[in-house]
Amino acid sequence: MSKPILQVTKMNKSFQVKSKKALFQKPKQVQILNNISFELLEGETLSIVGESGCGKTTLGRCIVRGVSASSGEVIYHAEGGEEVNFLQMNKKETKTYRKDIQMIFQDPYSSLSPRMSVFDIIAEPLIANFKLSRAEIEAKVTEIAEKTGLNAGFLKRFPHAFSGGQRQRIAIARALITQPRLIVCDEAVSALDVSIQAQIINLLKDLQDQYKITYIFISHDLSIVQNISDRVAVMHLGRIVELASSESLFGQPRHPYTEALMSAVPHPDPEVKKERIILEGEVPNPANPPSGCHFHPRCRYRTEKCTQEVPDLRDIGYNHFVACHYAEELQLKGVPTEDAAGM
Ligand code: SF4
Repeated sequence: MSKPILQVTKMNKSFQVKSKKALFQKPKQVQILNNISFELLEGETLSIVGESGCGKTTLGRCIVRGVSASSGEVIYHAEGGEEVNFLQMNKKETKTYRKDIQMIFQDPYSSLSPRMSVFDIIAEPLIANFKLSRAEIEAKVTEIAEKTGLNAGFLKRFPHAFSGGQRQRIAIARALITQPRLIVCDEAVSALDVSIQAQIINLLKDLQDQYKITYIFISHDLSIVQNISDRVAVMHLGRIVELASSESLFGQPRHPYTEALMSAVPHPDPEVKKERIILEGEVPNPANPPSGCHFHPRCRYRTEKCTQEVPDLRDIGYNHFVACHYAEELQLKGVPTEDAAGM
């Protein structure tokens, strides 16, 4: 059984927001992440899904410390057995562990500096984290470029000379160069064509097998998530509302929000007609969230209780966690796996 690499406990993140219309009013605290807890196992891929604005990118950034969480714990289990709380690290610890966790961003067009050669882009984290000779740096950059499918002869070129898929390979090579144990992929394939998406997903899987990397894969696209994940966490308005193995979540979702997201995933058999669940109303405003279950204004199964009581995220068996008062009773539709569909 795999060991945990990261334990996130009761993590919260709020921002102060000031209305442009009410200049003399005090800024309002907006809760973007609310009581987030989960464990990440070594070598697994945990996907975080949800609509835009649900807090999934903020969660990824809090883990890589691109932004600081307001409270909670993020315990990192280092390779040597030490346990460090990422939210309370001093400068020295930050430098020691920064190389272990990297991030790949969504847009390969804007995440790479146009003024740096591809060689310099890939080498930069290596130079920042290790003391190496020029020859060692060149050897490592060439090796990682080849592993990620880049032509080592083109490393002196600049990013604008590469296609979207090649640029994302450059971003992956840059993330891999420090030999990280965990990579947070934030919508890493969303900006790419479908055929290129498949190539990059396959590359990420191959690299995971080769280097035993753990991934947090942030995406709004459930068809991609189904293909890559061991486990999936569904987020709605800053909270995890469902967390389970990919098989269990796609086979039998237990939260009405997950069911609605799944209804948009195409069935493996094109002959099968699916009911698309259109959620009523707008995504609620995190500055003014609904009472009780935050999903209740859009939920077709809501009752009076839902409008008053916040459901806790609880284990309903087999490590399937759900935040819904009626998780055991509702019969919700999922997406058949390829096996179940007889493919
Ligand atoms: Fe819907 Fe109620 Fe469950 Fe919330 S608690 S998801 S409103 S049934």
